[in-house]
Amino acid sequence: MKFRAAVLRQPRTPITIEEIECTALQPTDVLVKVAAAGLCHTDLEVIEGQLVYPMPIVLGHETAGTIEQVGSAVGAKRRGEKVVLSWNPHCGHCFHCERDQPILCETYIGHGPQAVQIDGTTRLRLNGETLRTMFYIAGFAEYAIVTDACAIAMPADMPLDRACLIGCGVMTGVGAALNIARLGYGESVMVIGCGAVGLSAIQGAQMAGATTIVAVDRNRDRLALARRLGATHTAAVPEEDALAIARGVTQGRGVDCVLESAGNAPAFRLSAEACRTGGQIVWLGKTGVNEDVAFRWGALMGEKRIVRSSYGGARPNRDFPMLARAYLEGRLDLDTYVTRHLKLEEINSGFEDLRAGKGIRSVIEF
Ligand SMILES: [Zn+2]
Ligand SMILES: [Zn+2]
Repeated sequence: MKFRAAVLRQPRTPITIEEIECTALQPTDVLVKVAAAGLCHTDLEVIEGQLVYPMPIVLGHETAGTIEQVGSAVGAKRRGEKVVLSWNPHCGHCFHCERDQPILCETYIGHGPQAVQIDGTTRLRLNGETLRTMFYIAGFAEYAIVTDACAIAMPADMPLDRACLIGCGVMTGVGAALNIARLGYGESVMVIGCGAVGLSAIQGAQMAGATTIVAVDRNRDRLALARRLGATHTAAVPEEDALAIARGVTQGRGVDCVLESAGNAPAFRLSAEACRTGGQIVWLGKTGVNEDVAFRWGALMGEKRIVRSSYGGARPNRDFPMLARAYLEGRLDLDTYVTRHLKLEEINSGFEDLRAGKGIRSVIEF
């Protein structure tokens, strides 16, 4: 079978649209006709060479579509199902899976850097050459081949250009509030960084019942969106003093929880300073793996709990349908995120917007 895909051959070079081939489906594979795919910052990290993968590679991991074919071990009734793809396939029985940490699954972590399927083999070819698969999905293509456990069924009335966002940014942000921080009614929260993940953290905090939500960003347009999605206070850094604002609304203590999604040293430092003693800090952002970040030691003391999370504690089978229902019931806004629709051919210009911090999410529609 042949179809079009966006191929990256080298970091810092333009992506090209190529006709590629896929090998036969393995027993547990499903073939998904992609309807929509969001451009995520992690894709950009691969393009910029900060996150290193073998190449050529097909990026894209925020993807929704319809199952068109199934492998021999997958029930035929899944054909025609609308799905969102999870980028965390896991074995279910290794050391970390048994400890409820599928994001650390030994098979998942072991094969991840090779950008292959979860069984360690590849499916995609370009003129006979092996193509790599980002995050077990390769979603910037007309079709994606994933293991069936990664294709999570959506309600039939869920629009797929919104559903795709659930697969990465929305899951990570909402999940940080609900699954990792387990926020409760009346709690105070600071969210640093108001891109798709941060805005989702704000919505997750609101779903959990947080009543004080301080949003922090450098961009005032994003802070306006943050207010629309549930932030009660905003701090436009560096002009406004986010720490003073957080203390001002918490009787000087600092917030119960900081959800950080900006991924830079000042943001990490602010997260530690703004958290009250005994509170918790969830880091979602990341900086270069070999970079140092310095902290004032006193800011880390006082029984604070610090967690780094990649996927918001995602249990996709449990959480993706919940997020879709929340959207359909009007309790989770996804419409505001989609600031641009693209064709596959326009993918490079979508990444230019992302690099420039323009808009929230660009979504490729097929
Ligand atoms: Zn992502
Ligand atoms: Zn495992």
